[in-house]
Amino acid sequence: MHQPSTEPRPSLYYPYEVFKPWLASAHPPQARKKVVIVGAGPAGMVTALELARHGVASVVLSADLQLSQGSRAICFTRRSMEILQQVGVADRMTEIGLPWRFGNSFYRGQRVFRMEAPHDPHDRFFPIINVQQPYMEEFLHDACQANPLIDFRWGNKLNHLSQKEGYALLEVDTPEGPYALESDWVVAADGGRSALRSALNLQMEGASYEGIFVIADIKIDLPLPTERLAYFDPDWNPGNTILMHREPHGIWRVDYQLPSGETPEEALRPESLKTRINAQLAMIGHANTPWEMDWSSVYSARTLTLPEFVHGSVIFTGDAAHLLPIFGVRGANTAFQDAQSLGWQLGAVVNGLAGKSLLANHSAERVGAAREIITEAGKSTRFMAPPSAGFRLLRDAVLSLSLTQEFVRPLYHWRTSRPHEYTHSRLNCQHDDSALFENGPAHGAPPQNVRLGDGDYLLDHLGGGFDLLYFTQAAALPASLQSVLTNVRAKGVRIRVTAVGAGHAVAGCDQTLPDTAGDLRQRYGMTAEGAAYLLRPDQHICARWLSLEAPALQAALANALPQ
Ligand SMILES: Cc1cc2nc3c(=O)[nH]c(=O)nc-3n(C[C@H](O)[C@H](O)[C@H](O)COP(=O)(O)OP(=O)(O)OC[C@H]3O[C@@H](n4cnc5c(N)ncnc54)[C@H](O)[C@@H]3O)c2cc1C
Repeated sequence: MHQPSTEPRPSLYYPYEVFKPWLASAHPPQARKKVVIVGAGPAGMVTALELARHGVASVVLSADLQLSQGSRAICFTRRSMEILQQVGVADRMTEIGLPWRFGNSFYRGQRVFRMEAPHDPHDRFFPIINVQQPYMEEFLHDACQANPLIDFRWGNKLNHLSQKEGYALLEVDTPEGPYALESDWVVAADGGRSALRSALNLQMEGASYEGIFVIADIKIDLPLPTERLAYFDPDWNPGNTILMHREPHGIWRVDYQLPSGETPEEALRPESLKTRINAQLAMIGHANTPWEMDWSSVYSARTLTLPEFVHGSVIFTGDAAHLLPIFGVRGANTAFQDAQSLGWQLGAVVNGLAGKSLLANHSAERVGAAREIITEAGKSTRFMAPPSAGFRLLRDAVLSLSLTQEFVRPLYHWRTSRPHEYTHSRLNCQHDDSALFENGPAHGAPPQNVRLGDGDYLLDHLGGGFDLLYFTQAAALPASLQSVLTNVRAKGVRIRVTAVGAGHAVAGCDQTLPDTAGDLRQRYGMTAEGAAYLLRPDQHICARWLSLEAPALQAALANALPQ
């Protein structure tokens, strides 16, 4: 019998709530489900919310009775906020979060590099916002609870899964004992130690690095701005790296690398944590500022992915599908993109709008994203924690040269998580005019946001299905295009048409954006009457035309929803 802890997790800043378990005895017998999601972390909850946007009901299982312990992921990217906006929680993130765009790297007491992340007036969100993971999970959980299509089950642990012909049979354990559940699809969002991955005997590909880092969250009042701080080779921790981030509610994250040979158990002893944090505070000139320990943990960098995310009825996502180093804020930020991609593609298959090959496409696209991240994150990891004498020699050469030589300083800059572009996706239209555009997002790219007016942005108006941006000054959408739209909508495809540039309502379009300043047309390169962009439900571009004709739209939609 599964007995999750009912003791609220300790925290100096987050009031953990212990939820009641879902018990089968209190509910009527259950028919086979369309989708069961195992795991209620960011990947599981965003998948459930995205599926619900496409009209698909799901059951979400959480083994625990509480949100996850400790701050864990704290830095969320602009693209993550755009995804969270789609599922309705970006405002709450913005309300409590600390936005930032500068990073500083120090060596021998000298600041040797200052990173500035680009921020444009057309961006609704900052490049990064700091929020502790339990808050982010609380906002997602509230959104799940408010959604009638999501059946959220606390204290329900998946014990066993067997794959049958076209569905899976699950045994779920609860505080009153196990029950059986059948589902057409199972989303394995059960985290880095995924029991489902082990049960299916799946091997990940990639590398694990030896360097071990301590994460310590302390409550302290430091009069410093919200910027990333990185210290290389400081006197108190020679040869190693320390990172500091400000979090909401007076918390600071201190990450430091351990000297080789030291075990996690030794490093997490209170005396060891205290000595090192005091040394770090002394080094930055705050030796006498009082502080309290909130949470500590250890991690080592791993760059691993499953080579295929779909296995029969089971689809892996988030940390269950790949393990990415946190340098460059990869974990949760990648999980959101996985979930957004899975939500619409699994939704289309469940709704009968596409065949299972769409899930193979999802897997190919997201494995491609994981591999790209692994290549980039591997570079950052080798700089932060050199894995061999050769890498250390090179890293140390950059460090010492940077004291006097300007040109080496940008080598400190490690790339932060950015959305993967599905440049070679099979969903991209092969016969459109993409190559003829001079600017604007190309095939597979995420959309560019555009400020339309005071506090109003393009992405506020898109999402929930396909979007067609159509540039026109005419009174009505051509009848031939309207006829294609009527036909695809009759099959259940959601598509919204936005007329761009007209100062009046356009018949046949769902909304009009006058684009008075011309920014949208300029940023998307739409200059001729009838120019258009087709965005997939995850907002990535799959076709664009200098002049859109009805058969081209029909073909592009058919290509994006393969049977
Ligand atoms: C100590 C630590 C520090 C981290 N720091 C950072 C950071 O600074 N920056 C960053 O970007 N990322 C960080 N991460 C990674 C980030 O937290 C994860 O990438 C992110 O949470 C992934 O989300 P997920 O939903 O895939 O998995 P998880 O958040 O791990 O969620 C898994 C869920 O599955 C549930 N579950 C597991 N097994 C079962 C089962 N059998 N039945 C039912 N439910 C089950 C769990 O209860 C949990 O709800 C950190 C992770 C850890 C552990």
